[in-house]
Amino acid sequence: MYQDVLLHIGGAWTGAASGKTLDVINPATEEVIGTLAHAGIADLDAAIAAAETGFATWRATPAHARAALIAPIMTMEQGKPLAEAKGETMLAADVIDWFAAEAVRTYGRVIPARADGIYQLVVKEPVGIAACFTPWNFPINQAVRKVSAALAAGCAVILKGPEETPGSCAALVRAFADAGLPAGVLNLVYGIPAEISEYLIPHRAIRKISFTGSTAVGKHLAALAGTHMKRATMELGGHAPAIVFEDADLDAAAKILAANKFRNAGQVCVAPTRFLVQDSVYDGFMERFLGAIAKIKVGDGLAPDTTMGPVANERRIPALEAFIADARNHGAKLSTGGERIGNKGYFFQPTVLTDIPTTARVMNEEPFGPLALVNRFATFEDAITEANRLDYGLAAYAYSRSTRTVTALGHRIESGMISINHHGLALPETPFGGMKDSGYGWEGGAEAIDAYLATKFVTQAS
Ligand code: NAD
Repeated sequence: MYQDVLLHIGGAWTGAASGKTLDVINPATEEVIGTLAHAGIADLDAAIAAAETGFATWRATPAHARAALIAPIMTMEQGKPLAEAKGETMLAADVIDWFAAEAVRTYGRVIPARADGIYQLVVKEPVGIAACFTPWNFPINQAVRKVSAALAAGCAVILKGPEETPGSCAALVRAFADAGLPAGVLNLVYGIPAEISEYLIPHRAIRKISFTGSTAVGKHLAALAGTHMKRATMELGGHAPAIVFEDADLDAAAKILAANKFRNAGQVCVAPTRFLVQDSVYDGFMERFLGAIAKIKVGDGLAPDTTMGPVANERRIPALEAFIADARNHGAKLSTGGERIGNKGYFFQPTVLTDIPTTARVMNEEPFGPLALVNRFATFEDAITEANRLDYGLAAYAYSRSTRTVTALGHRIESGMISINHHGLALPETPFGGMKDSGYGWEGGAEAIDAYLATKFVTQAS
């Protein structure tokens, strides 16, 4: 059963003032399964007023009390394979727990003074009301990382959730409300993304912006934030290299990389994308990689044997088809997949392209779908050059048994996160974020709370 989704403003669930709604579509069946309330300027003004009240309450709530309130575990529905949805939900609970515990460690410091009787204090305060914009690929986790860090720091939040997957995000907000979060501290709005961001970011009540989505939109919002001198965290796109060296454990590399390439039908900003395989092990790797892909069962995420669901929205299908056609026109070879499955539901075959020239669009733009790009390389330097070729710098993966290679990779790859010989990103306690066009700021670890704290220096003579 899918419930129509409302806005959450000042502790109350409400329709849009205008009465406007948008449809919610199930990507596996293309059926309209419900509606969501569509916020206009009057609703945004109400959310800002509520957040101002909420912030006044929340900033005055002691950190230990804040920690106790933000720790409930929630269970909710999702469109992707059930096992993935459960994993995401459990991780969300973990994120809340971790930030709840971290809330009591937002320490300042005392700096020794140059004269007797002077006390120099560095105090950390919540930065204010945060406007958080989250996308549809991980409807709970993208939101929970921002919300938990902001609440732990003592900020109030206006969350602009994903219009295409609003139900789980609303359930997350409901869990916080049910846990007793004071009215106005966490507000949820949906509507036209550009209309909401262009109203909220310049608004003087908003002190902090956090966005997850494409690099193009991120640059636009970062510019807007810059114009209005607002602090911003930008969690943007990626095009992760996955390098397999000749001394790698090929069984582990093929299995782990295939699982992570096609998780969430490849709609993951840190998905391994540009596979670089050293010449001498290319055939061995491909045999194992294609073997793992052949076992993927594409279907409705609610079916128990499904291991890959549909892509989340209709526009991913022509986007993927165009990437594949363009790559083949540039001389790439199609190793497996390449097509939509059926004509009902947005199902797409797990696809592997090989021998793709760097001039192909897909070697430069994020495919954001079940599409792996595999090329060969000869030397360590060749692999590094290709890994660092793009302006993206979010995640990178590598497999090698050589300590020397592993250590050099950590130094040489231009990427916010590097995972070597296993897949170990996105834990609550570890920093998650990019460099270059993949954005700035961190979503996990102590750095994530810092993004919602203002530093104040107080010097006092006794
Ligand atoms: P898109 O760029 O239109 O939207 C991406 C997200 O940004 C959506 O959640 C959307 O609601 C939001 N958005 C768009 N314009 C906005 C604006 N002016 N103000 C505020 N929010 C805005 O792309 P899409 O078709 O939804 O997704 C495709 C691309 O987005 C992918 O190719 C991928 O690069 C990127 N994406 C990245 C992530 C991520 O985790 N980094 C998540 C989802 C999408």
